[in-house]
Formats: sequence, C-alpha cells, structure tokens
Amino acid sequence: MKVLWRGLTMACGVCGARGLFEKWGMLSMTQDCPRCGLHFERMEGHSLGAVAINTVVSAALVLIAVALGLVVLGTDVSTSSLLLIAAPVGVLFPILFDPISRTLWNAIELLMRPVSDDELDPRFRACSSE
Ligand SMILES: [Zn+2]
Repeated sequence: MKVLWRGLTMACGVCGARGLFEKWGMLSMTQDCPRCGLHFERMEGHSLGAVAINTVVSAALVLIAVALGLVVLGTDVSTSSLLLIAAPVGVLFPILFDPISRTLWNAIELLMRPVSDDELDPRFRACSSE
C-alpha cells in the first residue's frame, strides 16, 4: 500500500523521493530517482503502462461526465451540450493526470516485479540496509 500511495502522490515507489519532475513542465520526468537511483524506464516500452492507465482513467471520467450530464440535464439534452461538458474533461484531465499516471504505473510495476539490488544506487543500498 505504501508503494501505491507513493505512486499516487508522484513520489518514487522505492524510496519516496519527490521532485521527480522538471519545474517547468510536469510532462518531463527525471530518468533516474535522485535518491535511490532507480531507473524509471525499467524495460523497453515501460511507459506504455502509464499511457494505458491514463487512457482508462480519462475514458472513465469522460463517461462519468456524460452520465452526470444526462442525469442532471435529462435525456433530451443536445449532443453539443454533452460535448461541452465532456470535452474539457477529456482534454484537460489526461494532461493533468500524466505525471501521476507515470509514478502510479511505476509503483504498480514495482509491486508486480520487485526491484533488484543492482537497479539501485550502491550508496542508497548501504543506507537502507542499516
Ligand atoms: Zn527512489
């Protein structure tokens, strides 16, 4: 659970370090954790999982927005009105959720395939084993 929480709060799943994103663009994540040295792209194509999480969550939110629109406005509401409700959700949410989807996917991947010692900075291994 701690690993998932770290992923949801944009921290490193292994050590909980923050500051994994550049100041001027949440879309650019550091390649390695500044504290434990974990290389976030643990295998080729790793980031596809983050894209998948972002797509599924965003699509679910768009469906929820449309469903809420139908409940609040009634089923005889125009398609353009529903589009006005759903489009901002579908455009803005994936951009805002991108950093979280990356660290969350990293945490899920760490749970499925635990980190091995040789993936971490030797100095961090020495500190954490004491
Ligand atoms: Zn770390």
